[in-house]
Amino acid sequence: MKTCTSDINKKNCNCTYPCSKKGICCECIIYHKRMGELPACYFPDDIESGYDRSIDNFIRIYKQRGAGYLC
Ligand code: SF4
Repeated sequence: MKTCTSDINKKNCNCTYPCSKKGICCECIIYHKRMGELPACYFPDDIESGYDRSIDNFIRIYKQRGAGYLC
């Protein structure tokens, strides 16, 4: 059985919102998908901190900045 690597995930997570799902990426993705959103890691830090995780916001930022900020 695969063990959750939440400690490693947290090191790669740019989310600044206080949340119990931080580092538990499977729960994070499911939550935001149900909300019609994307997780924090799809947004650059200066946009993530505004907590608008909508797909519309992602498309807007992606068009402005390209894929370079996604790592
Ligand atoms: S991206 Fe969303 S679900 Fe994931 S840790 Fe941040 S606030 Fe929580």
